Amino acid sequence: MYCSNCGKELADNAFMCPACGAPTHCGPVIPANASDKDWLTTLLLCFFLGGLGIHSFYAGKTVIGVIQLITLGGCGIWALIDFIMIVCGNYKDAEGRLIVNKR
Ligand SMILES: [Zn+2]
Repeated sequence: MYCSNCGKELADNAFMCPACGAPTHCGPVIPANASDKDWLTTLLLCFFLGGLGIHSFYAGKTVIGVIQLITLGGCGIWALIDFIMIVCGNYKDAEGRLIVNKR
């Protein structure tokens, strides 16, 4: 493969160009502050059990999970917003790290 930035030939397993430092685009770009929580699991939990706040418990956000459980996911609206945030990769775990799709 070749660097998309400067055109220099790269090793197939290179994750960045040694000549110009540009990242290669052989895989998804994972932010440095990505959560170790699984994105797809969070997404499915929110989709099926979002009204019970289960995805918040999974992300370690126990207090929010309890509130969502009591309010049934803010009457579904809160769960829907969380679902959209998860799909967009903007949903964070208890440590403030983004839960992103690493596949
Ligand atoms: Zn380069």
